[in-house]
Amino acid sequence: MNIFIMGAPGSGKGTFSAQIKEEFNLNHISTGDIFRANIAGGTELGLAAKAYSEKGLLVPDEITNKMVKEYLNNLEDKKNGYLLDGYPRTLDQAKAFEEMTKGTDLEVDKIVLMDVSFDELTRRITGRRTCKKCGEIYNIYSKPTKVEGICDNCGSPLTQRKDDNEESLKVRLNEYANNTEPVIAYYEPKGIVSKIDASKSMEEIWPVLKETLKK
Ligand SMILES: [Zn+2]
Repeated sequence: MNIFIMGAPGSGKGTFSAQIKEEFNLNHISTGDIFRANIAGGTELGLAAKAYSEKGLLVPDEITNKMVKEYLNNLEDKKNGYLLDGYPRTLDQAKAFEEMTKGTDLEVDKIVLMDVSFDELTRRITGRRTCKKCGEIYNIYSKPTKVEGICDNCGSPLTQRKDDNEESLKVRLNEYANNTEPVIAYYEPKGIVSKIDASKSMEEIWPVLKETLKK
């Protein structure tokens, strides 16, 4: 089974990816991993990608697409398939990937969309506070500390990540929506998109997600 997982920042995509990977014995691959492997290995594609990112430019789709395909082709243990995270990021990438994998065992079978409302994502992200000392993560709405701004575990002051504010979140969410919506619209008629209501708690989401993937 080959899966793309998509979800906005704060949708719980990372956590559920780890669970899906375990449950279905898949290779969990993010585009970040693929870039790092190519750059570390000094491949031609890796060097090209590095040159772009060093100039502060986006790596062109053509290079990204080739890297993803080669990475998937060259996996030593193919397991039961892949769970691809962070790709395709755009409609062009989706179309190119389809073209590259048509009729092969790399074709995508399922697309999981972790669907969370804008308001809920805002609460999750702007409410997040972390303790730098012990690493505990809190949320002022859903997991508050006993004393405001102070870690329950170790008594250290909590901090908020700079880009966890509403303005920069809006930019990130808009960028995500602009890129993702056309990708989802492209795959929807093929009947392989599963929208998961990821506004619920982890305990409620996982059984639904698992059953959806088993179908
Ligand atoms: Zn602490």
